[in-house]
Amino acid sequence: MPAPAIDSHAHLYFDRFNDDRDEVIQRAKDAGFVAIINIAVDEQTSRQVIQLAMENEGFCHAVVGVHPTHSGMSADDLKTTLAAVEKLCDEHPQQVVGIGEIGLDYYWKEVSPADQERAFIAQLDIARRRKLPVVIHCREAWPDTLAVIEKHGVGVTGVFHCFGGTVEEAQRALDLGWYVSFAGNLTYPKAQDLRDAAAIVPLDRLLLETDSPFLAPQPKRGKRNEPVHSLHTADQLAKVHGTDRKTVLEATTASSKKLFRLNS
Ligand SMILES: [Zn+2]
Ligand SMILES: [Zn+2]
Repeated sequence: MPAPAIDSHAHLYFDRFNDDRDEVIQRAKDAGFVAIINIAVDEQTSRQVIQLAMENEGFCHAVVGVHPTHSGMSADDLKTTLAAVEKLCDEHPQQVVGIGEIGLDYYWKEVSPADQERAFIAQLDIARRRKLPVVIHCREAWPDTLAVIEKHGVGVTGVFHCFGGTVEEAQRALDLGWYVSFAGNLTYPKAQDLRDAAAIVPLDRLLLETDSPFLAPQPKRGKRNEPVHSLHTADQLAKVHGTDRKTVLEATTASSKKLFRLNS
């Protein structure tokens, strides 16, 4: 029996899975996965992750919200969009397990930092009201992201997904009491900085993720990513922590279940 695993961050609703989505999910089940959490990036994909969760009851779960790179809109439009997202939380309490992905992304320049921050703060408020954890997306914006959470995220918990910060930033994430998650890029030869950061995150504060279809780990690098490939990331985490895959999977699965309050 393979150890139970959870992919805490996937985008299986993307078109790139249209031809074989069921096979991708089945491959994960065959490899011992007990859950996949699909993360939305806007209102429409929030509906899609819920749909996937309904079609794969108890296995796929939904995180709904507006990604920072999708948050460029007027204040009125943001209000309408987030009201719709919050309504989905009410209508689908069985499916929705979190708010995300939310945060700041200064790598892509299409959306102003001010618009991103407005959407970020408003969604931290939704998470607090709905008592849901958040999934944080942060790219080249660590100081501001941490500052927003420290100021506006009181009473909210969550995970920093696809962590790309320094050892010091990982420490601040841990000080908040939050979880940290590393994607397949942890396995890339040049990613020693990431491995250094992963080394300071205790096993019981790590989550496993793919960010499918992106960031396939080393042996699959350049190909479409899918949940089973996160086992390579688990092996890398095991190496960093001087332990084995089974121990990493047990710890990360327990943490995913705890953070997202999964029963499976
Ligand atoms: Zn992301
Ligand atoms: Zn993502």
